[in-house]
Amino acid sequence: MNRPAAPMDPEREAAHLDCIHCGICLPACPTYQHLGLEPDSPRGRIYLIGAMKEGRVNPAGAPFIRHMQLCLECRACETACPSGVRFSAMMDEARVEIRKHRNAAGLFLRRIVFRGILPRRRILHACFRLLRLYQRCGMRRLVRASGILRLLPRGLARMEALLPEVPEAAHLAVPAAAQEGVRGRVSLFRGCIMPELFGPVHEATLRVLNRNGIAVEFPEKQTCCGALHLHDGDRESARQLARRNIAAFEKNGSDAVIVNAAGCGAMLREYDALLADDSAFASRARNFSLRVRDIAEYLDGIGIDPNMRRLQGRVTYDDACHLLHGQGIRDAPRRLLAAIPGLEVVELREADRCCGSAGIYNITQPKMADRILDDKIAGIIRTGASIVASGNPGCLLQIQAGLRAKNLATRVMHPIELLDLAYGDEP
Ligand code: SF4
Ligand code: SF4
Repeated sequence: MNRPAAPMDPEREAAHLDCIHCGICLPACPTYQHLGLEPDSPRGRIYLIGAMKEGRVNPAGAPFIRHMQLCLECRACETACPSGVRFSAMMDEARVEIRKHRNAAGLFLRRIVFRGILPRRRILHACFRLLRLYQRCGMRRLVRASGILRLLPRGLARMEALLPEVPEAAHLAVPAAAQEGVRGRVSLFRGCIMPELFGPVHEATLRVLNRNGIAVEFPEKQTCCGALHLHDGDRESARQLARRNIAAFEKNGSDAVIVNAAGCGAMLREYDALLADDSAFASRARNFSLRVRDIAEYLDGIGIDPNMRRLQGRVTYDDACHLLHGQGIRDAPRRLLAAIPGLEVVELREADRCCGSAGIYNITQPKMADRILDDKIAGIIRTGASIVASGNPGCLLQIQAGLRAKNLATRVMHPIELLDLAYGDEP
């Protein structure tokens, strides 16, 4: 059932006034660091959003749209801000306004991808099988060699370049739950892209949880988290997906909803705010958000089985923005990696800085995304690590593409894959 979009409540309407213009957030902002321009800083953007709300700036104007679209929504400014300014909520409001002025072709394309494909598992799966065929039958090599990509719209060519080898579909068979020795029961959030491109991460998550005495189930009717929709200004679609997920996960009453994709986790944790004005869902959304746990946070909290085999190698960890800035999780993944015998863990300078992935930012803002990625890759090279670990699919893809472009053999892995390797339970 379609419900009307949430009205702006007076508190959110005046949120820009919380900013005291101190500028403490400016050095944390990647776009400000690269451009040095006030309108491309958090403080400048908040000022512009305030002016938009007061009717002094036109949200359909090219300069306003450019400064807003150049924001990564990485939320580093929120971590830096001493006044607790909720920047991302303001940016989401700005993007709702921008969306109202999109042209018909742009809206149509977004509708197809965001509403017609992402939340429909079968259609999405069929698309990825076709992509796999494209990669395997030699057509990809032909297309790349022919130079035809240069004739495609920039976004499409960019997507093609970023796409890794599409793996076999994940086999997420839930083993018959052992009753003895079970320490807890959780539900795993699948996401939309994760099972298609990162099936092995889901499989590793399942094995590591089982190894630690946790029974796992997958609610069938779950769907995409809606983060891409919300950050693109399609708030109503995000709210509809949130309602579907809440209904899907509340039936079983498991201890926690486990997420291994930071962007999805941050979104699920904020369903309570997204549906705060929905009388039928507000308290259900609150209960749901309270159950959401990132996989690293959950395992660190329950204490993991220390019986692992030795792994060799030097690993560095890159904070996914939506884990660190969106969920405040910094130490748990580092502690898990440090628990693996033999693995040398080295700190990455500016690990808290975005890698330029940011949802579909690396497709819509390729130039800035590349500049930010170059900084990240330079930092990784300085660590001398043979493995980079990060807890978000977008970051894994982005860093992998950056390393590939420089012909570096550094591996990119989710921390749960390293734990799984150390347990030696993978087939
Ligand atoms: S979300 Fe990130 S890119 Fe956007 S203003 Fe804040 S720090 Fe800058
Ligand atoms: S967002 Fe926070 S840190 Fe940045 S200028 Fe405003 S009050 Fe200061």
